[in-house]
Amino acid sequence: MPGTSPSDRVWLRDPLAVHLGAGVDPNRAARGIVIDRTTGTIVELVPAGGEPRSGGVPTSGGEPTSAGAVGALDAGGTLEIIDASEHVITPGLINTHHHFYQTLTRAWAPVADLPLFGWLQNLYPIWARLTPRALELATTVAMAELLESGCTTAADHHYLFPTGMDEAIDIQVDVVRKLGMRAMLTRGSMSLGEADGGLPPQQTVQKSDVILADSRRLVETYHQRGPGVQIQIGFAPCSPFSVTTELMRDSAALAADLDVRLHTHLAETIDEEDFCRETFGLRTVDYLESVGWLGERTWLAHGVHFDDSEIGRLGAAGVSVAHCPTSNMRLASGIARAVELEDAGVNVGLGVDGSASNDASNLIREVRQALYIQRLRYGAEAVTCDRVLDWATKGSAAALGRDDIGTIEVGKQADLAMFRLDGLAFSGSHDPIPALVLCGAEKADRVMVGGQWRVVDGHAIGADGHALDKESLIAAHQEEARRLVAG
Ligand SMILES: [Zn+2]
Repeated sequence: MPGTSPSDRVWLRDPLAVHLGAGVDPNRAARGIVIDRTTGTIVELVPAGGEPRSGGVPTSGGEPTSAGAVGALDAGGTLEIIDASEHVITPGLINTHHHFYQTLTRAWAPVADLPLFGWLQNLYPIWARLTPRALELATTVAMAELLESGCTTAADHHYLFPTGMDEAIDIQVDVVRKLGMRAMLTRGSMSLGEADGGLPPQQTVQKSDVILADSRRLVETYHQRGPGVQIQIGFAPCSPFSVTTELMRDSAALAADLDVRLHTHLAETIDEEDFCRETFGLRTVDYLESVGWLGERTWLAHGVHFDDSEIGRLGAAGVSVAHCPTSNMRLASGIARAVELEDAGVNVGLGVDGSASNDASNLIREVRQALYIQRLRYGAEAVTCDRVLDWATKGSAAALGRDDIGTIEVGKQADLAMFRLDGLAFSGSHDPIPALVLCGAEKADRVMVGGQWRVVDGHAIGADGHALDKESLIAAHQEEARRLVAG
């Protein structure tokens, strides 16, 4: 996603700390990171005591400031210097599971204290009233919130297509382009209504042939392939209790045919496990295998209730899991066996999940939640700050099938998050990486996607270069949220 810029290259100089990845020596980038804006990639890590090879010291431009100073490169281009001495730099965080539309039903009292099935049955009729305008606003709010928390790539699972919402994913594509983030938009689906033994009300389900035709259309229209792409499409039947077995099977076949990824909720709650046993006579992973989903193309939301042999099978098959700690705590679903899944070969990524079960779209906050919930299961030594940061970056990238993002390395996309450790919350802290996670960072100061600044001074900047008008956005979104619940 290269764009035009007054400077060819940017040097993020002398960062306070850098997370290159668990076990990778941060001194390799002690003096910073050089980005080529024309290609949108990282071109150099500057080691301790070094200077950028690709341009040398700028010959003019004065002292660098937080806004950057521009100097001449030896090679003839220009180099902008950003003083990063007060920033912790991480790879751009990657969110692997969300339902953007749910920002319209955050903290709704009737479901505030219910577990998954009761929560869903109360919310389905509300969600069935979704409109194109409400979805556009909800998507903008969720993505901007993610972006300002340090997220550069976001996956969404949209499975609601009531009457008038045929172009739901097209609407989301427009928002992604306006914000200049990367996205994995999944064409979700529900085809098993109450009348046929499923959980969702009949007006929220679609016929299989309609779902599959639209899935194909979306891939042919929007799906990009190769390094640095902005938009990808995946297929995401909602869950075992809301789609037919045939649709699960047909979605897997179409995904293989078109070479795109597959996503669904699995093993989130004991209620779901009971449903699978009673309806299919199978445990969740057996069901997954029976419909042709046990493979590298698949990433699962939650994956809380797996036994030892299932963890081994998922790892051997190369399946990925989106761990959603806050949602699992909010709905009291359980504690995912994330460390054992990763040790077995599963790619573990992080997801904030939909805003009706989190209720925030804040990914750096989710890193902290993952650290703490997983320490309850595995102890403090096995669940380090570095390991959990890897889940939110490298693990999440792998879960989305991408190897061009998720780490800070030469040749990778310049997707970066920069956090300031200022304010009362960080006062008295000693080591920057643990401080980022343990003291509870909330917002990134700067975020770069493909070499372009998308957050500056903590505020989202659209792809058109203008600051997002958050005041108007919130007012309009709040109005739609009220209207939806009022009916
Ligand atoms: Zn979900």
